[in-house]
Amino acid sequence: MSLHQELIDRDRQVTFHASTHLRDFAHGDAPGRVISGGKGINIVDKDGREFIDGFAGLYCVNIGYGRTEVAEAIYRQALELSYYHTYVGHSNEPQIALSEKILELAGPGMSKVYYGMSGSDANETQLKIVRYYNNVLGRPQKKKVISRMRGYHGSGIASGSLTGLKAFHDHFDLPIETIRHTKAPYYYHRGADQEGMSEREFSKYCAQKLEEMILAEGPETVAAFIGEPVLGTGGIVPPPEGYWAEIQAVLAKYDVLLIADEVVCGFGRIGAEFGSHYYGIKPDLITVAKGLTSAYQPLSGVIVGDRVWKVLEQGTGEYGPIGHGWTYSGHALGCAAGLANLEIIAREGLTQNAAETGAYLQQQMQAAFGDHPIVGQVRGVGMLAALEFSASPAKREHFDPSLKVGPRIAIAALEENLIVRAMPQGDILGFAPPLVITRDEVDEVVARAKRAVDRVTDELVNSGDL
Ligand code: PMP
Repeated sequence: MSLHQELIDRDRQVTFHASTHLRDFAHGDAPGRVISGGKGINIVDKDGREFIDGFAGLYCVNIGYGRTEVAEAIYRQALELSYYHTYVGHSNEPQIALSEKILELAGPGMSKVYYGMSGSDANETQLKIVRYYNNVLGRPQKKKVISRMRGYHGSGIASGSLTGLKAFHDHFDLPIETIRHTKAPYYYHRGADQEGMSEREFSKYCAQKLEEMILAEGPETVAAFIGEPVLGTGGIVPPPEGYWAEIQAVLAKYDVLLIADEVVCGFGRIGAEFGSHYYGIKPDLITVAKGLTSAYQPLSGVIVGDRVWKVLEQGTGEYGPIGHGWTYSGHALGCAAGLANLEIIAREGLTQNAAETGAYLQQQMQAAFGDHPIVGQVRGVGMLAALEFSASPAKREHFDPSLKVGPRIAIAALEENLIVRAMPQGDILGFAPPLVITRDEVDEVVARAKRAVDRVTDELVNSGDL
């Protein structure tokens, strides 16, 4: 038995995995893989098989794999100080420098950073900030948070409730009370009564639905709205034209805070420092993770804007020290990794590359799949792209879910040594390569994806399903 197989078998005995069939994996009926290395956009498994990682891990390894500068920065920091807590005013140098850097990148209006270890826990912090804020303001009834169907904001009890995907709610008794989901800005999936709408009209329609929800709940009970600049895990869906301006007008009208979840978009992914900059979003609170360290260390953050900060400060006068905190907040190794990572992004112009090579990726995807018989839509922005499969592109008809077209194409791509992601809801294939990708590498990604899509198309034809 190969060492790789031996490791997988040991893993089955002792670990369970996210988004994995628990019983099948434990009993050897679902595949496993042990990843052992990576360089640039490529990763390698324990058998020495190399893959292009077309999804940058979980759209987080923005600077690519195997960057020794980051490893060295972590090592140097570990020799000096790996950890000391950041409660009661304690800090460490990397935390201070990283916060300065994050606030500089976020731009005017942002005041303070608080760190966590994951996007989920950062959104938990956001929810607590929103509650605290309204308690300080003497509005204890203003506590509901509106998210969107197909939004993704984490998988804890509260952050998983913000997430608007069925699989993350079912069997966990979620969402919790106080969280609502409004219409997804998903133009391709517009309903029959929205069929004739332009993108702009559809954006207005989404804003109108939000306003109706706020009015039905009572504006005095709605505290915040949370959204990703580009819907990510829900399908990689850039917003329809004018969407964010329409949404922000409604939020301003009812004094509802805006939380921009920049976990995916932040730090260059769509060709701007933040998705908020790209779409002209003016958030009160921002959530960051993933690209902050390119996953060389687990680290997330909430960025608190001036408007919220001023209120939080008043609260601590009355309430005493804030009763919130994580043992590992501001972890010195995470912050050192973050600093080294942001330095690489700046020095190598990776945000610019996400814009330019990203535009090339979008072009090549259109060229390869724009007229493909099972592709309903090719979409994306910067270094985020998706193919949405359709049984009849002209009618935007979905495949029968039991055909599992999306997952089958992801498996066919794997046979081409390309990792792309079958998104969890619908037949959608996601692309989000490391931002260091070159044009030649984009060509290779698209060529491998094309062979995979063609192969499954042939299978569907042969089985009479197309
Ligand atoms: N927000 C967004 C937009 C995300 O994409 C994710 C993770 N995919 C999260 C939050 C949660 O992050 P984590 O998995 O690190 O908890």
